Amino acid sequence: MPANTSRISGFHKLSRKERLERVFDLAGISAEERSAFSVASAPLGEIADHLSENVIGTMNVPIGIATNMIVDGVDVLVPMATEESSVIAAVCNGARQCRDSGGITTSKDENCMIGQIQITGLSNPFAARAAVFEHQDEIKSICDKCDPLLVQLGGGFREIEIRVLDTKEPILVVHIIVDCRDAMGANTVNTMVEALARKMENWTGGKVELRILSNLADRRLVRASATFPLSAIGGEDTRDGIIRAGSFAIADPYRATTHNKGIMNGISAVVLATGNDTRAVEAGAHAYAARSGQYSALTRWEKNADGDLVGTLELPMPVGIVGGATKVHPTAQMAMKIMNITSANRLASIIAAVGLIQNFSALKALATEGIQRGHMSLHANNVALAAGAIGEEIEILAGMLVEQKNVRIEAAEQLLKNMRR
Ligand code: NAD
Repeated sequence: MPANTSRISGFHKLSRKERLERVFDLAGISAEERSAFSVASAPLGEIADHLSENVIGTMNVPIGIATNMIVDGVDVLVPMATEESSVIAAVCNGARQCRDSGGITTSKDENCMIGQIQITGLSNPFAARAAVFEHQDEIKSICDKCDPLLVQLGGGFREIEIRVLDTKEPILVVHIIVDCRDAMGANTVNTMVEALARKMENWTGGKVELRILSNLADRRLVRASATFPLSAIGGEDTRDGIIRAGSFAIADPYRATTHNKGIMNGISAVVLATGNDTRAVEAGAHAYAARSGQYSALTRWEKNADGDLVGTLELPMPVGIVGGATKVHPTAQMAMKIMNITSANRLASIIAAVGLIQNFSALKALATEGIQRGHMSLHANNVALAAGAIGEEIEILAGMLVEQKNVRIEAAEQLLKNMRR
């Protein structure tokens, strides 16, 4: 029975248990379903209540380890949180194929984020622009005063850039560029743009409207690169197929979207495992992929002078190791520990490396046997589970589905019925 009202006055003031009961009652959840939810929603304790609002439980996704990864010369076990089958297997498999050539190497910009201030009501926006530039020292001082700890750590305000947007009414857009060091920086930067608002109005004579971080973090790019020897990937045909698949994604937004989604399968899984903001990284990645005006691929695939396959990936990587859930979520802390992360830079490098390897594995599968073969055998486990298989039945049923080349829920339900007869 669906909830007959969504208006629950004072819901946020209830305890988690009371909220849960209220929702269960309204939604007509049975006693059996209630206890299944309680088991599945393993408690994060009080932490969950502080991370979000109106909390009734937690949503658990598997966290697995990508093996075989060498990033900047150092072996690393990478925790990945994802509900999608094949994603982690693809990284393990792909990473093995560039181990002999040293794994993945990376480079990173400074950890600069952009805060935006929108100023309207200007009859002379270019003069206003000039006026703001005249106050750079004061802007730096106001920003840095907001976060003395960040400044002490070597971060803080760096510079401004100002554009006049040629809209119906001109908009002056002031960007403040802030080095956020080991923080993602959203709260840091938002505090700074807020602190500048009144002054901006005084200097320009305009009205400050929006003031918030931009998620197009193109001052915080990370690049990952890897060489896959021909002997490791199975020869020239595979290499050339991957290069052609890469060209397809560069030229066609329909293909690029799926190409980049595959990259984000890897990236978001590490971002989530470390308690970072998946939406921030995803928004930045896709906007960066469209920076030429046409949405395109985030990777490039080429052959080097020896004929080996070389892949590169470049994208914004606004992740931190302090702030948000990174420090308070025990799983995130464990993920950082497993990877021996001591800086946001290292984390960004590992995340980009995983994205590149994910793309390699996807393109290799697509350019050779097709994506379904490898994917389906792993997907079959999910289908078996969905059909109601338990314990040993899951693997047996998944095997039967793959053998019959019919990995579908109806087939699984029928086979399960037969198995149990
Ligand atoms: P935060 O404010 O919790 O932590 C950052 C602060 O930690 C810094 O300002 C600094 O004072 C301190 N700090 C301590 N050690 C540091 C170090 N080594 N390096 C840098 N700073 C250090 O968090 P945040 O990173 O400003 O914000 C991240 C959170 O904001 C995420 O949870 C994100 O989801 C959320 N958020 C995102 C958006 C967006 O993406 N548009 C908007 C609002 C909030």
